[in-house]
Amino acid sequence: MPFQFFGTSGAIPSAARDNTALAFYSSDEVVLVDCSGSPYQKLLKGGLDPMRVSSLIVTHRHVDHLYGIPSLAHNMGLAGRRVTLHVYALPETRRILNGFMDLFPLEENMPYRIELHEIPPKEGYPVLQAKGFRIQSAPVKHGAPNIGLRVEFASPQERGVVVYSSDTSPCPSLITLARGADILIHEATFLHSEAARAASDGHTTGYQAGEVAAQAGVKRLILCHFVDSLHDQVDAVRSEARQTYDGPVEIPEEFREYRV
Ligand SMILES: [Zn+2]
Ligand SMILES: [Zn+2]
Repeated sequence: MPFQFFGTSGAIPSAARDNTALAFYSSDEVVLVDCSGSPYQKLLKGGLDPMRVSSLIVTHRHVDHLYGIPSLAHNMGLAGRRVTLHVYALPETRRILNGFMDLFPLEENMPYRIELHEIPPKEGYPVLQAKGFRIQSAPVKHGAPNIGLRVEFASPQERGVVVYSSDTSPCPSLITLARGADILIHEATFLHSEAARAASDGHTTGYQAGEVAAQAGVKRLILCHFVDSLHDQVDAVRSEARQTYDGPVEIPEEFREYRV
């Protein structure tokens, strides 16, 4: 099951890590999850054809998760896209997307359409069926309405389940969504010495991400969304998660292809 990180940082990027965003794909289709800076260039850097992107899921309305959308939409149009781009978001996030459409305006003189779809805040909601995989969502606990995603690959070439927490404090709905997954991608914005700040900002510590992985019974844990001050000590975040989770814990590399 292939996926890549286009970024692994919290809201402030560093020279080494950009804002957290992901691409899930099969040989036929690419689905983007969140959209930070230079998304068109990131697709090219990741070796993915931007025209194979069918859909974009925007998890929540915080700037670091969606500010690249006008650029992606503009670039795709200039590059001659003719196929509709489907964008999925919660109602609160959709209002921001409508604002983008008015501000720029993204569809003017473009050879393709952007279709917005609302995701209701329900557990196990079937967001989309792509070629070779499907994606479900569930609400998570953050400063803005937000969703975690469960990506299930079921093609002759690829099988397996990857769950992405997006930004959240540890929460039961995400544990349910992640139950038995092959890979849990969980945010670990802070070290546990900052647990109070993590709780007030709707984030998770490395220690807590390990607890979530253990409770959900996942096979492998990949951490992301690190606050910029931790970018040169990500091994400390991994060590914390290892105190509470026995399985493999990884710090992701941007543009590396991951498989189950
Ligand atoms: Zn964020
Ligand atoms: Zn956020």
